[in-house]
Amino acid sequence: MLIQLEESLSAELQDSIIEELKTHGYKASLVETRQAQYLICNGKKEADIRYFGNLPGVKDIHIVEDANKLVSRQWKVQDSEIRFDDETLISRDDLTIVMGPCSVEDEEQVIKTVEFLKENNIKFMRGGIFKPRSSPYSFRGLGIEGLKFFSAHCRANGIKVVSEVMQVSQIEPMYDYVDVFQVGTRNSQNYNLLDELGKADKPVLLKRGMSGTLQEFLASAEYIFSNGNENIILCERGIRTFEKAYRNTMDLNAIPFLRDKSHLPVFSDPSHGVGIRNYVEPIALASVMAGADGVLIEIHECPPKAFSDGDQTLDFYQARRAIQRLRETMELRKKLVVE
Ligand code: PEP
Ligand code: MN
Repeated sequence: MLIQLEESLSAELQDSIIEELKTHGYKASLVETRQAQYLICNGKKEADIRYFGNLPGVKDIHIVEDANKLVSRQWKVQDSEIRFDDETLISRDDLTIVMGPCSVEDEEQVIKTVEFLKENNIKFMRGGIFKPRSSPYSFRGLGIEGLKFFSAHCRANGIKVVSEVMQVSQIEPMYDYVDVFQVGTRNSQNYNLLDELGKADKPVLLKRGMSGTLQEFLASAEYIFSNGNENIILCERGIRTFEKAYRNTMDLNAIPFLRDKSHLPVFSDPSHGVGIRNYVEPIALASVMAGADGVLIEIHECPPKAFSDGDQTLDFYQARRAIQRLRETMELRKKLVVE
């Protein structure tokens, strides 16, 4: 059961509702986000919700059987949108395209990428400055100094910055320079990091763990939400399977599943999902038809020279073509798929 409380409720009234629930066999956990206050009630399976719904201070009440209640569509039927200060919006009506290099390498690269994105009316640039690498000897990112020029060029051109945060201590130094914190697959179940991002006032793009189930993925999103941050994007990025022909197995099934079970926006990362440049565009287009609200794609002016993930990176010519086809596919989806 999930209860939405009236705004600016006194502490006494809150306590009395929690007490009332307790006497009826429920453990209620209070969640305060920037938007609202909720009581997450666990305990009895059956209850007459009309009784609790009529308690003073209760705004709305829902039966939510899903374990991850706040991210569940069982209480919030409408799709969640993410709004930025300047009215940029992540919503169901428009496909959000996030493009940029796997790693930020130097200022020249950022300038050229920003120029490309502007020409193509792309509003979000990705770029790692803290890089989780399989080998400790690989390039591990430019750190905050790289983020500063990455952010300056993006902001001067009205582009939002998406960058991965790998640990709690990086949140504060990154905060002023990013618009969306990315949580990578390796940190998808780093609950301390998720807790702290829940307290931060910036959207979080949460990737699915490479060996994580969809329930675990939703639980990770629930950690962020229950700490106060409702602005979460779920991003499918491929999972580990027995198949070795490509880097990961892109779980396209996850897209309609997540859209069905959760009200949060769902993105697809076909670059990591398949890991092979020529397959990125078809998997991106398939993701849109499967219902994705956005795509995250790695691009580079010269992929063979990229410091990381060059094999799955599109050059600007391929990226331009992908953007056009993605937009056409989105139009097609709007015509064909009645939601
Ligand atoms: C990335 O986006 O560059 C990245 C490291 O992704 P993932 O965490 O999905 O591997
Ligand atoms: Mn990468």
